[in-house]
Amino acid sequence: MENNIILGGGLAGLIVKFYNPSYKIITKDIGGQFASKFQLGPRFLHKTEETQRFVWDIHSEFNIKAKEKRVKVGYWYNNGLHDTCSAELMKQYFLKSRNISEADANIEKQGVMSSGKNEFDAFEIDYKAFAELMFSKHHDDFWLGLVKRIDAQSKWITCVYDEMLFSENYRSLISTIPLKWFISVVDTDVKESELKYSSIYFYKTIPENKFSDNEYDYIYFPELWKPLSGIYPWYRISFSNDRKECIYESSFSLNWSRVDGVIDSNNIEIGHIIDTDLKFVFPDIAFIGRMGKWKHDERLEKVVKDAQDMNAQNDEYNLGAYK
Ligand SMILES: Cc1cc2nc3c(=O)[nH]c(=O)nc-3n(C[C@H](O)[C@H](O)[C@H](O)COP(=O)(O)OP(=O)(O)OC[C@H]3O[C@@H](n4cnc5c(N)ncnc54)[C@H](O)[C@@H]3O)c2cc1C
Repeated sequence: MENNIILGGGLAGLIVKFYNPSYKIITKDIGGQFASKFQLGPRFLHKTEETQRFVWDIHSEFNIKAKEKRVKVGYWYNNGLHDTCSAELMKQYFLKSRNISEADANIEKQGVMSSGKNEFDAFEIDYKAFAELMFSKHHDDFWLGLVKRIDAQSKWITCVYDEMLFSENYRSLISTIPLKWFISVVDTDVKESELKYSSIYFYKTIPENKFSDNEYDYIYFPELWKPLSGIYPWYRISFSNDRKECIYESSFSLNWSRVDGVIDSNNIEIGHIIDTDLKFVFPDIAFIGRMGKWKHDERLEKVVKDAQDMNAQNDEYNLGAYK
């Protein structure tokens, strides 16, 4: 029997499934980046017409209540906090957060640093509860497994779980797994190595007063780090709601002793993706989400819109093109 399949059970896959319940999910884990051992970085769903509807829908379906808030973004440079940031500092931030040199960067087309905004309206959602409730409601539709091969011509997908191989024939496929992994398992001339990315290292710690005594939800540190310069090696910190803890993010592994009071640390290998101009077409396959589309500015509000559009178009959703 042919199934409609979503690849990846991170938030993108779960949101697509929420609005398109006939799809099955094949995934390595449930929740993806947001199911990490501690909350990584900011966690805001920007307020749009579509996300307002999502908030309403998950409340009706699962009784999950979202909190609406105005998110405040600060910029730390010249040894102090500011509301604005110059184009030159945004460029430095891009290089610092991706750990790349100017020669490797195509800075103009990358949306970074909340696009230079200092506030925006958003929802805070208990994504952990959303993932758990989605899984308990639809558990028969979740197949745990690592995708090993996609035959896009005959529409077969082969996975491995617990050293056992299984294959499924699909009618349509929505990929939310990192495009780099998708490319590595499908027949294509596109080389996996053409898709560039950098890792993120996270440090959970108790914030110093000079950073936390303010109203900002997160703060960017764009200045390029030079040892002994008084400039910090991390590029962003974000605070827990009670402001008693914060997460430092760095593009390289920090010496723990450099960060006072570290409680825990974590890292994600494909943390920042670096956009590409690649274009290709696969029959009956669509790509959704930041990782799936390999586009940094694909935040969750775009995933919500795509998932709702897909539902409205009755499965005829824009299948077959990566643009
Ligand atoms: C620090 C940080 C803060 C962020 N803050 C925000 C924010 O405030 N707002 C916002 O909108 N976005 C934010 N983002 C963007 C965030 O990446 C996305 O919004 C979202 O979490 C990504 O979900 P996803 O499902 O696309 O990817 P992932 O969470 O990475 O999920 C991918 C899924 O695919 C599975 N998978 C991977 N490879 C395979 C394979 N070969 N076979 C089977 N399964 C596979 C994984 O197990 C995982 O379940 C943030 C990102 C970071 C890193």
